[in-house]
Amino acid sequence: MDLYEYQGKELSRRYGIPVSEGRLATTPDEARAAAEELGGQVVVKAQVLTGGRGKAGGIKLAEGPDDARAKAEQILGLDIRGHVVRKLWIERASEIAKEYYLSITFDRGAKKPLLMLTTQGGIDIEEVAEKSPEALARLHVDPLEGFQPYQARRLIYGAGIDDPNEQKQVLALVGKLYEAFVGCDAMLCEVNPLIVTPQGEVKALDSKFSVDDNALYKHPEIAEMRDLDAAPAEERAAREKGVTYVKLDGEVGILGNGAGLVMSTLDVIALAGGRPANFCDLGGGGDAQGVVDALEVIGADPQVRSIFFNIFGGITRCDEVARGILQALDRMTIEHPIVVRLDGTNAEEGREILAEASPPNLHAEPTMLEAAGRAVEFAR
Ligand code: GDP
Ligand code: MN
Repeated sequence: MDLYEYQGKELSRRYGIPVSEGRLATTPDEARAAAEELGGQVVVKAQVLTGGRGKAGGIKLAEGPDDARAKAEQILGLDIRGHVVRKLWIERASEIAKEYYLSITFDRGAKKPLLMLTTQGGIDIEEVAEKSPEALARLHVDPLEGFQPYQARRLIYGAGIDDPNEQKQVLALVGKLYEAFVGCDAMLCEVNPLIVTPQGEVKALDSKFSVDDNALYKHPEIAEMRDLDAAPAEERAAREKGVTYVKLDGEVGILGNGAGLVMSTLDVIALAGGRPANFCDLGGGGDAQGVVDALEVIGADPQVRSIFFNIFGGITRCDEVARGILQALDRMTIEHPIVVRLDGTNAEEGREILAEASPPNLHAEPTMLEAAGRAVEFAR
């Protein structure tokens, strides 16, 4: 789960990372009031779950309350790479002498958290990594040993930060960011830019936190930060029902049992010349309620034109799944053609149950490839 900048800053503050004081605003008048409270020059920042807001016109300095109101008017409603701005973070403006970059992320290859620090902050880190890789100091932390201050020192020297006053502050900040990374079960904590003010103060001017969805049960206060309005309707429904759902950009909705089968189903749809619109993983189950929930979620995706229901019965019995499908179709109306492929334990019985009931819109195919071909045809 990605957090907004203001939420990341809230967490940063809790871990003792220096950030500027600010207020949330959703209207120009609120922005004006926030600027009034903060006093002096402020920066009006679009809160969207994507980066590059500065370049897109989503970050503007304002001289005072009236100017903040005007800037808020310009930024609210702006579309930043598909994200419409509905919230603003009004922050006391900082003077910037230097812009650095600091992040902690997972290096899946190394199976360790990776710290990265460079004095070339403010711009895309990918660009720094490509054009001047020597300027980007990188260091892995062994998760069992944990973070040690000598590692931050090595990182700081590696990045070429040589002012002792800055070194001291960055050293403390890296330690706190690592605490935040572990404490929040984050997948990414990025500070870009990490600034040095003309007075020599180091602080986080931006914040990007991404928290592991699978750890949210441990952090109810972070889970609550999720902005339900930012996700499409079917994703919200999936989350409420506890259905595993992933949105893709084709036309065939996919329902399968088990991650491995679902992955191969995506491939087979591609092989048949189609594109998956999304997929739902039923897991081991095939009970009616599970099928209803999954079909509802898949059917709510406006891009879906046909549904491919691919079941391999291992522990799950196909006759049970077939009954689940029929019960589900009794309880709901699905406008899209559904192609079912049942194989594995009790597949014969399952197919017979479906053939006997033969509900409209339901098409059974014996093999995965044939079923995929049919579903792709229907989607055309
Ligand atoms: P991003 O473009 O989405 O990464 O948003 P940032 O929060 O990183 O802001 C983009 C840029 O706006 C920064 O790199 C700064 O140059 C500038 N900026 C942001 N806040 C301030 C501020 O308080 N004072 C000044 N002078 N510039 C700021
Ligand atoms: Mn930034």
